[in-house]
Amino acid sequence: MALHLFNTLTQRVDDFTPSDGHTVRMYTCGPTVYNYAHIGNLRTFTFQDLLRRWLRSHGWQLDHVMNITDVEDKIIRNAAAEGKTIFEYTDGYTKAFLEDAARLRLERPERIAKATDHIREMAGLIGQLSAKGYTYTSDGSVYYRISNFPGYGKLSHSDFGGIRPGARVDVDEYEKDDARDFVLWKAAKSGEPSWDTCVGNGRPGWHIECSAMAMKYLGETLDIHAGGIDLVFPHHENEIAQSEAVTGKPFARFWVHSEHLFVESKKMSKSAGNFYTLRELEAMGHAPETIRYLLLSVPYRQKLNFTMDGLKAAATSIARLRGFALRLKTDRLGDGRDEAMTSRTAEARKAFDAALDDDLNSAAALGAIFEYVRDANSALDAAAFLSGNATEALALLDRFDSVFDVLRPTSEGGLSDAEIEKRIAERTQAKKARDFERADSIRAALLETGVILEDTKDGVRWKRK
Ligand code: AMP
Ligand code: ZN
Repeated sequence: MALHLFNTLTQRVDDFTPSDGHTVRMYTCGPTVYNYAHIGNLRTFTFQDLLRRWLRSHGWQLDHVMNITDVEDKIIRNAAAEGKTIFEYTDGYTKAFLEDAARLRLERPERIAKATDHIREMAGLIGQLSAKGYTYTSDGSVYYRISNFPGYGKLSHSDFGGIRPGARVDVDEYEKDDARDFVLWKAAKSGEPSWDTCVGNGRPGWHIECSAMAMKYLGETLDIHAGGIDLVFPHHENEIAQSEAVTGKPFARFWVHSEHLFVESKKMSKSAGNFYTLRELEAMGHAPETIRYLLLSVPYRQKLNFTMDGLKAAATSIARLRGFALRLKTDRLGDGRDEAMTSRTAEARKAFDAALDDDLNSAAALGAIFEYVRDANSALDAAAFLSGNATEALALLDRFDSVFDVLRPTSEGGLSDAEIEKRIAERTQAKKARDFERADSIRAALLETGVILEDTKDGVRWKRK
């Protein structure tokens, strides 16, 4: 089945395949590391993880770049207030973000690129824009002349034809009705970090980093560019203006934007003060996988209203699925397969896949799984569910969990596959060295975290309880 994705650029649901047929070149705007991420930010990144995993389930590989914005107005202001350099200031928040991402089981993008490691590339791109006549300089700062780029407004579907040429904006974020020439390079100011480059001494504006890093690592035309809905204007509009003015080619084929997380009908944001971090929710006793489930339960183009009741419901849903999985592994079942149940399982898998292919309709995908669990539980009660059906049901749950990744409890050790493999290798090593005591203790320790080892003639196999 084809994957259908809503494209902000075309305003349509279009069929997606990577342009080279096998590797999806994707760029996502990462965090601004001036504070801990809140779960609104994390909704955006969790959706992108779902997208990654579903793209892979189509058999495509990923080349995904995510940036870390570690130099911009707020960072500079906050670092100065704490008497730190921006590097000292952002380092802890960058680490915290990566830890949060790992706790939420977000796959690591193939490359994480820091803005401050790419100042030279940004200056080079600004130099190219200047050579093509898209910029002007005022007081040592370089601005993008948007009236020279006829496509300006094509992503946000706004008509900026009538705006006054020459009006400028220096701040990184502004509203649509404030569209003006934006700053590419800010002249050095005392007390601010600056770099000496081919476009002068100063620091980059926010927008240039994504154009420079995306094109450096992924080429001139990306398959997918994703971000939160607030980035459509001005950030992504400006990225298009910067990149396409230089290359003359479309910057991204698909623009995918996810809606916000709300609290009591207000967007969760640091400035509104209505936010929770992952750490806060964990400290209140909520498991990361419960938060992951909640963030994924609403389709990405719909607003998600965050409530504590919603979190409780997410925990109940996970418990239900875990209960079903346990039943599949422990109920005494007759041999063979019940054909009706086999087709019911196949139907559920089809519905699950179709829902995700339908612009990542996660709610419908979950609906397909829960309807199936209800039917399968009834069949189990009625002894119309045989051991062959259990194998098929577990395969369906595996498929579900390869995308949703919520069945493994964090509290029970929650070892990753790689960690398990590593311990198994240590055990094999110990056995080779005839240190059976150590081999046994590794096996026992794994069992305690819910991992069962089985020695076969083809080597060690393992499974989670
Ligand atoms: P920032 O760290 O501020 O650069 O934001 C990182 C990402 O979080 C961006 O893609 C934003 O669009 C996104 N974002 C900000 N607030 C929310 C929210 N309340 N819900 C979902 N995503 C958000
Ligand atoms: Zn960006």
